[in-house]
Amino acid sequence: MAKRDYYEVLGVNKGATDADIKKAYRKLAKKYHPDANPDNKEAEAKFKEATEAYEVLSDEKKRQTYDQFGHSAFEGAGGFSGGGGFSGMDMGDIFESFFGGGGFSDIFGGGGSRRRGPSRGADLQYNLTIDFEEAVFGCTKEISFQADDKCDNCNGSGAKPGTHPQTCPTCNGTGQERVMKQTMFGAMTTVTECRTCHGEGKIIKEPCPVCNGRGKVRKTKTITVDIPKGINEGQSIRKAGMGAPGEKGGPNGDLLIAISIRPHKTFVRQNNDIYVEVPISIVQATLGDEIKIPTIDGEETYTVKPGTQPETVVTLKNKGVFNVRNPRIRGDEIVKFKVVVPNKISDRQKDLLMQFASEDGSVPTGKKEGFFDKVKKHFD
Ligand SMILES: [Zn+2]
Ligand SMILES: [Zn+2]
Repeated sequence: MAKRDYYEVLGVNKGATDADIKKAYRKLAKKYHPDANPDNKEAEAKFKEATEAYEVLSDEKKRQTYDQFGHSAFEGAGGFSGGGGFSGMDMGDIFESFFGGGGFSDIFGGGGSRRRGPSRGADLQYNLTIDFEEAVFGCTKEISFQADDKCDNCNGSGAKPGTHPQTCPTCNGTGQERVMKQTMFGAMTTVTECRTCHGEGKIIKEPCPVCNGRGKVRKTKTITVDIPKGINEGQSIRKAGMGAPGEKGGPNGDLLIAISIRPHKTFVRQNNDIYVEVPISIVQATLGDEIKIPTIDGEETYTVKPGTQPETVVTLKNKGVFNVRNPRIRGDEIVKFKVVVPNKISDRQKDLLMQFASEDGSVPTGKKEGFFDKVKKHFD
């Protein structure tokens, strides 16, 4: 199924202000929140869809990227740079920033159950360093990392297999305790989180021995990542659902693989262009020559024009890096010629250079005397 447009999901137009977006999301979140719609898969999907749209449209940078590239910006190699954009964000963060950390029940239930509903697991970031050529041509990498995963022994419930979490006897599953207090204004009832179950409403009598009741265990995960050609420093690859497990059956977070690229000894990359310095001799610069220039596709034959000046820059079209979003588009290679002045020459070469200079009267003043003596000797 094609992904719906984020603006459409929130029911706002493209020019919507931040306040409009927040308002629209707040309305949808209230309507579809799992706490308000227990066991309603459709509502859950709608809630997730709205939250995803909000995550992007409420962030100026992400919204800009989305406006420019659409959903493709957030799949595979994205247009994001700087990494960390999504990391550490979970539902709690969003709700807390909205409603001042009051907890869901304040908004969704009002005095009813304080049990927290399913929440999405956190996104994880993995920093991956690859070689210059691997970034240019793409590659497949296997990465291993330690992360929490659902405990297989108890299927994530935290209860010993064969047993089930039980309704908390202290709060009868509400997660709340009512405490009557005598104050100077009379008897007052305050509602606090249940001390027995810490607001969960359920207690685990016999914890799973593998995860000690956590419902999750630390596992080493190994996955293969396809890195598209043209990826650049600071871009990330998103592996949906590979992040931290959600709470109470909520969806997993995502894994973001942030790319760093090792420098190359010859090439310097800037966006999709490649810069290279090519040394040529004074003779080659003066007389011209056919030379080999290194490119990422191998050596390229190039004809240096006679009279090439130091620092001359030439462009080899389409010899740069592939555009990560459209590999048919390539950058260029920018070549700068470095004319190398020899620092060690033979006496004969010195003589020849002086003769060369005498042809156009450019013999260095300080050398004139000795030179003409020599020339005289030469012709005597
Ligand atoms: Zn377990
Ligand atoms: Zn309780």
